[in-house]
Amino acid sequence: MSDRSKIEWTDATWNPVRGCQKVSPGCKHCYAETFANRWVGVPGHPYEQGFTPRIVETKLFEPLSWVRPRKIFVNSMSDLFQPFVSDSFIRQVFEVMALADWHVYQVLTKRAGRMRSVVNALPARLRGLAHVWLGTSVEDRKYGVPRIRELAQTDASIRFLSVEPLLEDLGQLNLEGIGWVIVGGESGPGARPMEQAWVTSMRDQCALHTPAVPFFFKQWGGVQKSRFGRLLEGREHNGFPEPPLQEAPPRGNRLARRELLELRLDAVA
Ligand code: SF4
Repeated sequence: MSDRSKIEWTDATWNPVRGCQKVSPGCKHCYAETFANRWVGVPGHPYEQGFTPRIVETKLFEPLSWVRPRKIFVNSMSDLFQPFVSDSFIRQVFEVMALADWHVYQVLTKRAGRMRSVVNALPARLRGLAHVWLGTSVEDRKYGVPRIRELAQTDASIRFLSVEPLLEDLGQLNLEGIGWVIVGGESGPGARPMEQAWVTSMRDQCALHTPAVPFFFKQWGGVQKSRFGRLLEGREHNGFPEPPLQEAPPRGNRLARRELLELRLDAVA
């Protein structure tokens, strides 16, 4: 399966963990589950085991082999902070991100409380890195909004909200410490509707905040999402934090980083 992504706000996906368990209403039509279940029992396919949660050790070093800088959605097919993933494996993922620092990593979770406790306990050299952005999903008031406070208390250079699928009006949010907001509606069979007023409320809160928060409107969604596109009041909204992308180091340096990484992972394991 290609690691390139069609998701509008990223370039590629990296899945050292596959599969997940549902935690809140935003998971109801989980695209990752739908995709994974299509391949159950297909010998040799990465999702032969469907959506059963598992670690994929062979994927751990993948970003080091990608020479061209990319924005990477970490665990698009899973959630890094689900209970079965050990603190030690999460640290290994952060070790990789720290050393393959020519990419930007977008780490998104619905387990914001665990992310806060694990990330804040990492060594200082792994925390608050400019190229590692941490985000949480906010689909409704009951489950999603409380995650914002957990995220705000997490050590990160950029904290972002993925307000998708937006299931209701979220009311007035505290955006202090939030550096990016993505909003989108649900797509595919059974998609739940999203009202325009819910979206414009989010857009306006981002614009009126001091400092203004970059706002990205991903899509209206719907059963046939291509019919509804991504214009909001006649225009696209493509707000993004300034990504600190840099050139990859020469091959010799990348190999040296890989050796250093293996030493560090041995120490963590
Ligand atoms: S947390 Fe994310 S990956 Fe896991 S079931 Fe929910 S939507 Fe799917």
